[in-house]
This record gives sequence, structure tokens and C-alpha cells, in this order.
Amino acid sequence: MLQFIFPRACAACDGAMDDADHGMVCGRCWARVPRLRHPQCARCGHPTPARGSCPGCALLPPYVRAARSYCWVPDETSSAIISALKYEGWPGVAAELAQRLARLSWPEDVLRERAAVVPVPLAPTKARARGFNQAERLASALAPHWAVPVWSDVLRRVRATGTQTRLTPGERLANVHGAFIADAEFAPKLRGRHVILVDDVLTTGATLNACASVLFAAGARTMSYVTFGRARSTHDIQR
Ligand SMILES: [Zn+2]
Ligand SMILES: [Zn+2]
Repeated sequence: MLQFIFPRACAACDGAMDDADHGMVCGRCWARVPRLRHPQCARCGHPTPARGSCPGCALLPPYVRAARSYCWVPDETSSAIISALKYEGWPGVAAELAQRLARLSWPEDVLRERAAVVPVPLAPTKARARGFNQAERLASALAPHWAVPVWSDVLRRVRATGTQTRLTPGERLANVHGAFIADAEFAPKLRGRHVILVDDVLTTGATLNACASVLFAAGARTMSYVTFGRARSTHDIQR
């Protein structure tokens, strides 16, 4: 009855939810999300290339063990789901994304070693304006699935980097250089650990790599990445 008076709308497509839809994103949208196909590279989680070197691994520094993502971006549906998380901040959307991220497969050593999830921090001005950090929402929703803590305060963004959308990969690298620091008081906690960095999207890897290099310098031994979306490389587009 309530649903008849106040029909629930999908957070991504704004369409009416079916009775079978329990979350905030409708089943039609979830079915339309373009998943990364299998088989995937064991390290970077990129669909295994037909030939040549792996385009995903080429983005990762040596101390990054593995990366996993759920679906491709940009895409009408996956981008709409990310917007619902990023700009509207629905905790319910974060929970639905985390359920899917929790089912991604990882190398055995990652499962064994992962000590904590660390969200990529937002610039303080952005966090204040938005009221939340979408990566932190995602990390907090994911952590209980993996039974690991969330270390939200380990990394800080000391410099706003502005939007990266229009930048080339080289410009993105320069843009994030020096943007993050690790809080010195967390060094004992980080020493020798394998931590999983969490963000909404992996594009060129510039942001996640900048965070990983700071964590590595602070004493962490290994990092892995998990994101909901992943940008296609030119390699994927050509295929
Ligand atoms: Zn929908
Ligand atoms: Zn790879």
C-alpha cells in the first residue's frame, strides 16, 4: 500500500522498483552493468588480453600485488550508480556496491594477508562541501564482509587536485604528485602490512598509485586496489 502511494524509484535510472528489488538500485540496472569479463589477469584483474602484455599490469607499481574492479566505466548505468554514491551519498547504495565487491575473487595471499581497507581521501574542502567521502562509505560497507578494519585516517589529501577528467595520463600523474601524506602516527600500524586501497573508480591509476607510494614510504609492504568502476584502456576499446 505504501509502495503504491510512494513508489520507490531506482537511485540510478529513476524507474519504479519491482517488488523483487530490495536495495536502492533496481534489478534491471544491475543486469545492465557491464561487468569485467573472465578470464582475468590474476594480478590486475583486467580481462586477459588475447596477446601482448597486460594493459592493467602496466599501470601498477611493483609493490601493488593485485587490483580488482566490478564493472567498466564510463557507461550509462554504472556511471549513474557511481553518481548516486558520489553526489547523493546514499549509504544504501554503498552497501549494494560493497556486496558485489565482496564477491570478487583474489589471489590466495591477498585473502590471507589483507590487514585493513584504506579509502582514498577527498580534499578537505570537497569532503566538507559534500559531507562525506564516497570511497570511505564504500570502504566502511566492504570491511565487515572481509572482517578487516577501516583505516580512514591513515592517509590525508593535503592538496586539492581538481577534476582529472580532462587530463592526459601524464598530466594526471603530475596533478596528484605530492597530494597525499600518511599520518606519521600510523607508521607502526602500517609496518610490513598488506593494505587494500578503496576508491569508486580506477582510471589511469594515478590517484591510487600516489596513495600506494605514500603508504609504501610509510612502511606498508604491499598494497592492493579495489574499485567499483574501471576505465577501459585504448587496448580494450580497439578490441
Ligand atoms: Zn534502475
Ligand atoms: Zn594484468
